[in-house]
Amino acid sequence: MQRPVNQMSHVEILKQQLPSLDWITEDKEIEKLSKDYYWFSPLLKLELDSKRADAVVRPRTREELATVVSECAKTRTPITMRGAGTGNYGQAIPLKGGVVIDMTAMNRIVSVKRGMATVEAGCKLLVLEQAANDAGFEQRTYPSTFRMATVGGLFGGGFGGVGSINFGPIYAPGNVLAINVMTVSESPDIIELTGDECLALAHAYGTNGVIVELTIALAKWQHWNEACVSFQRFADAMRFGAELTASPGILKKQCGVFASSFTKYMPLLKKRIAVDLPYSICLIQDSSESPFRDLVTKHGGQVTHWGSAGSAALAGRYIHEFCWNHTTMHVLRLDSSFTYLQCLLNDPVKQARALYDELNPRVMMHFEFIRNAEGAVACGGLPVLQFESKAQIDRDIATFESHGAFVMNPHVYEVEEGNSRQIDPRQVAAKERFDPLGLLNPGKLRGWNARAHAQRSK
Ligand SMILES: Cc1cc2nc3c(=O)[nH]c(=O)nc-3n(C[C@H](O)[C@H](O)[C@H](O)COP(=O)(O)OP(=O)(O)OC[C@H]3O[C@@H](n4cnc5c(N)ncnc54)[C@H](O)[C@@H]3O)c2cc1C
Repeated sequence: MQRPVNQMSHVEILKQQLPSLDWITEDKEIEKLSKDYYWFSPLLKLELDSKRADAVVRPRTREELATVVSECAKTRTPITMRGAGTGNYGQAIPLKGGVVIDMTAMNRIVSVKRGMATVEAGCKLLVLEQAANDAGFEQRTYPSTFRMATVGGLFGGGFGGVGSINFGPIYAPGNVLAINVMTVSESPDIIELTGDECLALAHAYGTNGVIVELTIALAKWQHWNEACVSFQRFADAMRFGAELTASPGILKKQCGVFASSFTKYMPLLKKRIAVDLPYSICLIQDSSESPFRDLVTKHGGQVTHWGSAGSAALAGRYIHEFCWNHTTMHVLRLDSSFTYLQCLLNDPVKQARALYDELNPRVMMHFEFIRNAEGAVACGGLPVLQFESKAQIDRDIATFESHGAFVMNPHVYEVEEGNSRQIDPRQVAAKERFDPLGLLNPGKLRGWNARAHAQRSK
């Protein structure tokens, strides 16, 4: 889409005024850095394919970041924050052009001590994990994209992943202890938020503050083993997962449950799972091997793979790259006609069974066991289905909701649709405080658009 001439010239002026900054100039790179993994949704692909930034800049220091933010404020240029761009939902795609600020050069690990890490927002999760491990700790939760994704991107657009079975989502109280936020104004300030105050910026897609630095709580390092288990019936696998999650004495870090239809899309797992049977992928601590195997037997399963996660990581392999939304990606790689949904189940065994009975095999069920933000056993769902139409997606969402699932619609780019589907006044208040000019990722926060509309009609 063509940008208005005056906005184009703002960006040109910006670049001329700040020549020492690392501006990305190659057209292909600008296109790449304007996009994320929105294409998992054919609906978002249609809507967002043409969207791109007018310029991309990669600040190296707080001072450089402040300079570009200040100039954007002066010229009223939209800003879209970016970590590694692995988000779905088109979170990091600028709807209104302007400048994409790529944070990956602001990646310093400030400290790792006493079970806490303070890092710049662009720090990659993999790099942080190595530093945490060296100090005897590990991250509490990380997405399956942890090789690429950044800490700021996880907080700004992610949910959690591996480890959420113990610690819940990244935004469960206690996981993120403090964030430093830069205000978007002609004279940017940095403000520290602590505790629950931080949460207004969690999963807000960078619409309500520029996150510069985060302090996160870590867990004690432990040695984990990868385990794959096959079951005769999907319901058995779900019951196993629920009991594993609830068992305080069996130490685990991951448990995903997958319908049998996924097996044909996982050629790389073929030595580890039985063909055409439902399966589970888990991470289990050394001391828990025997009770884990007992639990598998109790639910009629069979351990088809057991091996050190540490050794696999040294070889560059992570079993979690077959879990969470990587599962969807493996299917899409072999057949691009598929897409997915995202949901939360608070009564997993019962709800998953009802959904499976109603929608299998058209919808391939995939659930990841977690603790929800209140600590109860729950499941994140990433069911995969063949795309037919928007109407069919809406019907499937309605079916999930009719069974009490809480759907975060991955076919819509608005922040609210990826959260509670309601306007969150805390998110809007944070935007008033940190982005009063409304320049951050404009068009994504429905609560802000509604507020502007209400103000205009006064
Ligand atoms: C194959 C695949 C698997 C995935 N698995 C998981 C999973 O297991 N769990 C999960 O939660 N997610 C998952 N995701 C989504 C995504 O990978 C994660 O949420 C990841 O943490 C995003 O990090 P990022 O650095 O790539 O963020 P980006 O995509 O760059 O950004 C995400 C959002 O945060 C905002 N943002 C980034 N940096 C800042 C900042 N400094 N200040 C303010 N806002 C900022 C951006 O504007 C954007 O809206 C998956 C995605 C894919 C494609």
